[in-house]
Amino acid sequence: MRLRRILAVWAAKLAEKISVHIFHRQGVTWAGKIALRLDPSILKTLASQVKKDIFIVCGTNGKTTTNNMLCAALEAEGYKVVCNHTGSNMLNGVAAAFALAAGLSGNLKADYACIEIDEASTRRVFPHFKPDYMVLTNLFRDQLDRYGEIDITMNILKEVMKSAPKMKVIVNGDDALSAFLAMDSGNPYATYGISKKVTDDSKSNEIREGRFCKKCGALLHYNFYHYSQLGDYACTNCDFKRPELDFDAGDVEVGETLSFTVEGKRIHANYKGFYNVYNILAAYAALRTGAIEPVHFNQMLSRFRPENGRMEQFQIDGTKIMLNLAKNPAGFNQNISAVMQDQTEKDIIIVINDNAQDGIDVSWLWDVDFDRFHEDNIHSITVSGIRCQDMRLRMKYVNIPSLLEADVETAIRKRIADGCGNLYVLVNYTALFSTRNVLKRLEGNG
Ligand SMILES: [Zn+2]
Repeated sequence: MRLRRILAVWAAKLAEKISVHIFHRQGVTWAGKIALRLDPSILKTLASQVKKDIFIVCGTNGKTTTNNMLCAALEAEGYKVVCNHTGSNMLNGVAAAFALAAGLSGNLKADYACIEIDEASTRRVFPHFKPDYMVLTNLFRDQLDRYGEIDITMNILKEVMKSAPKMKVIVNGDDALSAFLAMDSGNPYATYGISKKVTDDSKSNEIREGRFCKKCGALLHYNFYHYSQLGDYACTNCDFKRPELDFDAGDVEVGETLSFTVEGKRIHANYKGFYNVYNILAAYAALRTGAIEPVHFNQMLSRFRPENGRMEQFQIDGTKIMLNLAKNPAGFNQNISAVMQDQTEKDIIIVINDNAQDGIDVSWLWDVDFDRFHEDNIHSITVSGIRCQDMRLRMKYVNIPSLLEADVETAIRKRIADGCGNLYVLVNYTALFSTRNVLKRLEGNG
């Protein structure tokens, strides 16, 4: 058995070395597939060698950032951690994270594991190991035809929670869907959230999920929304309401940087985007729930870089460029908020593709609140990518003129040449890698 495992670990390492530079994320997936093929019990065995606990991170938005941040926070406290940093979050990617972290002896030396898992893939991963903790960030509507309705995702998560009754769920209490799931599962749980109102979101035209109580079906009443369906809710009919928050972010300040207070400690981060308060809070709550004292948390945040294409900055020929992924309505609306927080003049490029991983149906664009781009400080909006015509129509519908340039590189070059020096590039999933490569290349040549 041991020999099989050694062979599988070696093969995975070799496969990763050969392929990752050519195929990027797919290379990691391939390494995991080979490891599982050579030793079907490799994931089970290596997961059992983790000395302390296994954390997994699930939820529609913020998985990779939260998981990588949790890993960095554990490392900052001196622990050795297994993590699927690249965001390869299906069964093969999870197997690869463990196989690649193992030594050439086929054994793993790690204190903790932090593993993000695609919600639909939890069903395939849980038979291999039962995590000690599950962080559940939120449940938003994702690209329609990829996962189907949120209800399907909720049923899958409920099933895996029940299959691991000792697993403690660390849940975003501001999300009625996630909170209900944790409460309903029978698993132990801890909650995090923002109990007080931070900004006025009442005028937003956002489409909100979970307007109805999952317990009894009646309408939920919201005292306020933070964004999307996250906020302070209570059922108008039964006793379901936002649970008490174990980790409550207070005095939240959002602007060019973020800060908030939790458990009497002031937390600072040099990122934009209100949603990052939740990502940081989720990582913090996971540590504390796991009885880990985050002594170096702020130090970790000062060094932490969100993964590629999340508020990633470039500087090309005197133009400051911010690249950000926006793959679903909730994510896109949060992106628009972050862009509009910048009061200075700006150019915007929106790149929309419809490759298989994006979802071929781009009707979700109609659920994004593009109205908010009606501001004087918008110098120009350019639509690009495979579905630039759909995006142009969407902008036309809210009476916002846009420039059409299907080729991403040409669009970027043009706005660097004739823009105002402050450019935001918002991209959906498969547009991210190609757009990032273009920006990297242009920056390198500059
Ligand atoms: Zn109810």
